[in-house]
Amino acid sequence: MGFREDVMSEFCLFGKSLSHSISPLIHKVIYRELGIKNLYSLMEFEYDDLNFYMDKLKKATIKGANVTIPYKVDVMEYVDFIDEDSKNIGSVNTLVNMGGRISAFNTDYYGIEETLKKYIRSNTRVLILGYGGAARPIITYLINSGVSKVYIASRQKRKDYGIIKFIDYSSIKDIEGDIIINTTPVGMYPNVNESPISNLGIDEGEVYKNFKIAFDLIYNPLETRFLKDAKKYGLISLNGLKMLVYQAIFACKYFLNTDFDKEFSEKIYSRVKEIIYSKKKIISFVGMPGGGKSTIGKLISKSLGYDYIDLDDFIEEFSGESIGYIFETYGEEYFRNLESRCLDILMSRKNMVISTGGGCILKSHNREILKKNSFVIYLDWDVENIVSSVDLSNRPLLRKDKARIYNIEKERKHLYEDVSDVIVDNNRCLDDIVTSCMEILNFLKIRL
Ligand code: NAP
Repeated sequence: MGFREDVMSEFCLFGKSLSHSISPLIHKVIYRELGIKNLYSLMEFEYDDLNFYMDKLKKATIKGANVTIPYKVDVMEYVDFIDEDSKNIGSVNTLVNMGGRISAFNTDYYGIEETLKKYIRSNTRVLILGYGGAARPIITYLINSGVSKVYIASRQKRKDYGIIKFIDYSSIKDIEGDIIINTTPVGMYPNVNESPISNLGIDEGEVYKNFKIAFDLIYNPLETRFLKDAKKYGLISLNGLKMLVYQAIFACKYFLNTDFDKEFSEKIYSRVKEIIYSKKKIISFVGMPGGGKSTIGKLISKSLGYDYIDLDDFIEEFSGESIGYIFETYGEEYFRNLESRCLDILMSRKNMVISTGGGCILKSHNREILKKNSFVIYLDWDVENIVSSVDLSNRPLLRKDKARIYNIEKERKHLYEDVSDVIVDNNRCLDDIVTSCMEILNFLKIRL
């Protein structure tokens, strides 16, 4: 994905493979709750371009970036300030641009703290599986909290230090403790039937019976094989969603240079959970006329095995008249009322992908019912691309004056952003756009 300087993207995520990311969704919930109109976009690039992007971050209008795999360590050499905890952790995930000076923080630490704090005592013993990037802030947090012992199962031989003892996977059934934490990617979508314990070929009960709590950093799926098995043996199970949401909340504190109270943070976490756990079985596409909603909507409906409905086609079928005729004969207000009526009817259905007309979001009633009943995707396409590659001659509002599309975009962009759960950058090839949508939808669908 390119770096679009024409887009006022205030914050973004740097990483290598981001199409599955739900960070934009979380940030959207935060900004919506704060009543501010920031954009949060995905900046996907290869290692060789890191220098270029860090330079852009210093110079461009971007105020801050989150950083994910595999750049959490490498970005540290480009920044002007790293806070003490992050230095100890050895990686950062939040970069803030303050007038060209970049400060770096690790907010995964706070996500871990929010997840674990109520279970931690001075005599707590923890077994961590895997010793990669995400294990480091956990270790720092556990040491800072004064726990008594941390065992780390690693595939490599490593040197013990302080309360940290490295063990081989062959001896994990001999470890007794309170909390067992999976920081390996084993069990992540699509390999959902795997777990770092079941892969060992030992009686897994022998491991789980020694612990009270299982925490898996993975959040896709929300309930991994590791957590399912742990539950079978009576352990409390914690997934990686709280960590993910709270690291984003803390990143926003740095981005916006503000503080959020406990109540606000809990509200955000609860709102994200509502979206993610909801069993919405309607996917709605919104966006500018000619912005690809029908083409992409059809492809997505096919992949999901859902019905596909084009709202304009449904209006024509329902009324027995063409959109052009309705506009010319009865005017826009009549059309908008009819559109609302049809949307009300369709929103009672299930297993459906719907592409809405470009102006559907103008009525607040429509925005409310779209938000309430469906998962809304805004296909964000540069207006210049629409003008240069789409035939607008059959669009009622543009037929006579194509240049009007620029004003229409200005009027509507914030409404598309407001109504949507996620914004998908449409300035890419069709395959990439469909893949981005499907990655997000598969994540949501996996628990339906
Ligand atoms: P990473 O740096 O690649 O580290 C993962 C570690 O797991 C590796 O260093 C390795 O440790 C071990 N490992 C890797 N493949 C394995 C395999 N096939 N079998 C057994 N062990 C294996 O990745 P990471 O950044 O730490 O991320 C790890 C997981 O945490 C991912 O699933 C990621 O999505 C998740 N995560 C979640 C959040 C959140 O907010 N919830 C945040 C960050 C990461 P050894 O070499 O020591 O065995």
